Amino acid sequence: MRIVLIGPPGAGKGTQSALLAKKLQIPHLSTGEILRAECTQKTDVGLKAAEFMRQGKLVPNGVVQEILFRQLIQPECEAGYILDGFPRTVPQAEGFDNWLQQRGKTLSLVLEFRVTDEVLYERLASRGRVDDDDEIIRERMRQYHDLTRPLLDYYKGRGVLNVIRAGKGSADEVFARILQIIDNLPQATN
Ligand code: AMP
Repeated sequence: MRIVLIGPPGAGKGTQSALLAKKLQIPHLSTGEILRAECTQKTDVGLKAAEFMRQGKLVPNGVVQEILFRQLIQPECEAGYILDGFPRTVPQAEGFDNWLQQRGKTLSLVLEFRVTDEVLYERLASRGRVDDDDEIIRERMRQYHDLTRPLLDYYKGRGVLNVIRAGKGSADEVFARILQIIDNLPQATN
């Protein structure tokens, strides 16, 4: 299964992708985490990405796709994967669709994590990550609204989008909602 999680920062995608990966026995990949690791190791990619991330801006497509696609062709991703944080723009989604198509694959499911702004700010304020500072949070929210939300229509048009109410209930309750959607999916063929 190839699953994409879309949602604003603080919506719980990281927590849910870890739970889902364990349940489905497939890897979960977060482009944010991969980029943060590259920054810490001061690799070429990390050096290119660091300034964008510090400002809460999106890292250029080429950089993100290069590091992610390199991982997706590894044998451990053959049976599927969960993506958290990619695609994040319509051009990224188009690039990813082409990439999948060339390999005879499709997406099984896209989950939109829907949470009110109030709940998001509360959660982010308590997380303590360097890019969780007030002004940067606002910038990341703006980027989500302007660049990532249009993706939802893109995937709706492809019939793979499902909405998760991610702002109410415990992580386990949210996870149960996700499993219900997965149980109701038609059997994947590729
Ligand atoms: P996240 O952990 O998903 O909130 O991502 C943290 C930061 O990494 C974002 O604010 C972006 O600067 C960068 N980033 C992560 N994923 C992407 C992506 N798909 N495209 C561009 N930038 C990304």
